[in-house]
Amino acid sequence: MPMPDGGIIERIAELRKDLNYHNHRYYVLDDPVASDAEYDLLMRELRSLEAEHPELVTSESPTQRVGAAPASGFSQVQHSIPMLSLANAFNREELEAWHRRVKSLLDDADFAMVCELKIDGLAVNLRYQDGVLAQGATRGDGSVGEDVTQNIRTIRSIPVSLLGGPPPHLEVRGEVYLPIDDFNRLNEERARQGEPLYANPRNTGAGSVRQLDPKITASRNLQIWVYSLGNAGDHPKPESHWESLEWLKELGFRVNPNNKLCHTLDEVADYYDHWLESRHELPYETDGVVIKVDSLAYQDDLGVAGREPRWAIAFKFPAEQAITRLLDIRINVGRTGSLNPYAILEPVVISGATVRQASLHNEEDIHRKDIRIGDWVTIERAGDVIPHVLGPVLARRDGSERIFHIPETCPECGTPVVKPADEAMHRCPNASCPVQFFELLKHFVSKGAMDIDGLGERWCGILIEHGLVRDVAGLYYLEKEQLLRLDRMGDKLATKIIDNIRASKTRRLPRLVFALGVLHVGSEIAELLTQRYSSLDELSVATQDDLTGVAGVGPKIAESVVGYFGVPHNLEVISRLKQAGVDPRQQALDSVPTEDLPLGSLTFVITGSLSSFSRREAEGQIKALGGSVTSSVTGKTDYLVAGESPGSKLAAANRLGTRVLDEAAFLELLDGASSKKG
Ligand code: NAD
Repeated sequence: MPMPDGGIIERIAELRKDLNYHNHRYYVLDDPVASDAEYDLLMRELRSLEAEHPELVTSESPTQRVGAAPASGFSQVQHSIPMLSLANAFNREELEAWHRRVKSLLDDADFAMVCELKIDGLAVNLRYQDGVLAQGATRGDGSVGEDVTQNIRTIRSIPVSLLGGPPPHLEVRGEVYLPIDDFNRLNEERARQGEPLYANPRNTGAGSVRQLDPKITASRNLQIWVYSLGNAGDHPKPESHWESLEWLKELGFRVNPNNKLCHTLDEVADYYDHWLESRHELPYETDGVVIKVDSLAYQDDLGVAGREPRWAIAFKFPAEQAITRLLDIRINVGRTGSLNPYAILEPVVISGATVRQASLHNEEDIHRKDIRIGDWVTIERAGDVIPHVLGPVLARRDGSERIFHIPETCPECGTPVVKPADEAMHRCPNASCPVQFFELLKHFVSKGAMDIDGLGERWCGILIEHGLVRDVAGLYYLEKEQLLRLDRMGDKLATKIIDNIRASKTRRLPRLVFALGVLHVGSEIAELLTQRYSSLDELSVATQDDLTGVAGVGPKIAESVVGYFGVPHNLEVISRLKQAGVDPRQQALDSVPTEDLPLGSLTFVITGSLSSFSRREAEGQIKALGGSVTSSVTGKTDYLVAGESPGSKLAAANRLGTRVLDEAAFLELLDGASSKKG
């Protein structure tokens, strides 16, 4: 074997130092300064260097150790069976490699596996003496943990005395976590008190258990999922992990109902795919799936390698968070005039995509989270949601960071901005602000609105620049000759645009209402409004009281609608639209019972991302037409609406023969159903 050069020895020492620092911040202080993905990368590098140079591995290396030593302040608990870590798989190949290894170690025997969600919380060992809770301990360094019995007793979902016939000595293991809603509530309260916000549920939950004052733990509504049997003394053990989970349930422990017994690797992969897509519907955070060999005899045969059992593996979900530098905060003026701040970031890869910008809500939120220009910040990109900034990593500040202030005038037209007292957003009040109109025009022609194909973002800009349209009604007065005078506009495109503008006159009323871009009126609300009001004229004279009588329409929306029709410029646009023949009508529907609605009795599932509307809006439209929306594809599903990058639901639909609609077919179905409404 070649001698490692000095550079490698140095790099290994550096990685160990960094990892030890991160372990301390994460396990002891519950306040990490690196994201899990950053940490995992350092760990992978160290592992691969150590694999190339096994002579450099020492028992002190973070690759050989679990967690961190117990913090002072707690009494120590010696674990009767070590609390280990888990080997990780980051893709299907690594999972398959693990499965092959296990199979060959078991002399090619077939084996069942239990799939469980990997709960992102804090591992605890609970000891019961004669069925009564005697001790709760953290994992610590795997051999010695912290005694947190007093704190554990305050967690209501941990039984203090067991049901059935528990053995005289019983230990169980599980993950204590802080539910996402409770985490958000806690942070809202901290914001009200002007205290710094907590970074995430995992570290807040862990920090809440590792408190010297049990009153703090008691105030946090922590929960537990128990995921394995520990030392049960001489009591005969069940034969399988699955049976032991069943037994734990009978004894009164909270065992996760989503656990699944699988017999093939394909079943395991389906379980993973399902939860990869549905994990955000759970009220707690997960960071992967844990796969365990079911037979306890096989588990014993397989044993442990270093700090990891060979019989289990954590198949991690792609990280959804990363830490990067916030270089600047800029403003984007929206179609309703809102000044939307967004972050310019040092590019960072999150679950396969490079993120350069992230949304920041509003000035109040930026100050509440104390986000400053120049900060290291945690970014989250969950599923198809736009990346957003969670908060700063305070420990990485060096004093050069700058506080952000919203500009006093609109960055696009220079008009002084206003901030309505009851709103979070600052606004440019100038209805002819060019950027607002540009955004509005783009929205007006978009697929879910008037759907004028051929008029993309670029042509919208050019039409405004040349003064050819000054309001959305202007589109309907455009002549082909005017278009042909524009650079790079050919006869074919000009004809297409004019034809499509004409065709859009027959779009149904809710789409026109949505297209107008009234503040707070998304496609779902437009659908609800037009069930009550059968034309723009009727809607334009509705009073605040009338409007709040429509189910789903609250005072904020009602006020916005009344306000919109109170602006003379808007009424003029509507009258010009009518003159041009854009005046759809439909029979009010609010008296029709749901089962008589066109989509009544039909069940939909939506997957992937849609370009015309958010999933919520798509759901709203289906519901407004009487259909129902569920989260997983079953034999009872009538349609799967599949947007961009559909996940495992598409495979499930194909398996079950469920009809699949792409976005265009879905829009067509909505249009057809909606024209049948009356
Ligand atoms: P791990 O979190 O990858 O896996 C082991 C742990 O999984 C167990 O101790 C248990 O607590 C938990 N778990 C959750 N659900 C489970 C289930 N159903 N069955 C069994 N166990 C379950 O390993 P680890 O050694 O605890 O931590 C390493 C990970 O922690 C890293 O990959 C990283 O994500 C994170 N970490 C981050 C930092 C940081 O600075 N950001 C520092 C240290 C560790």
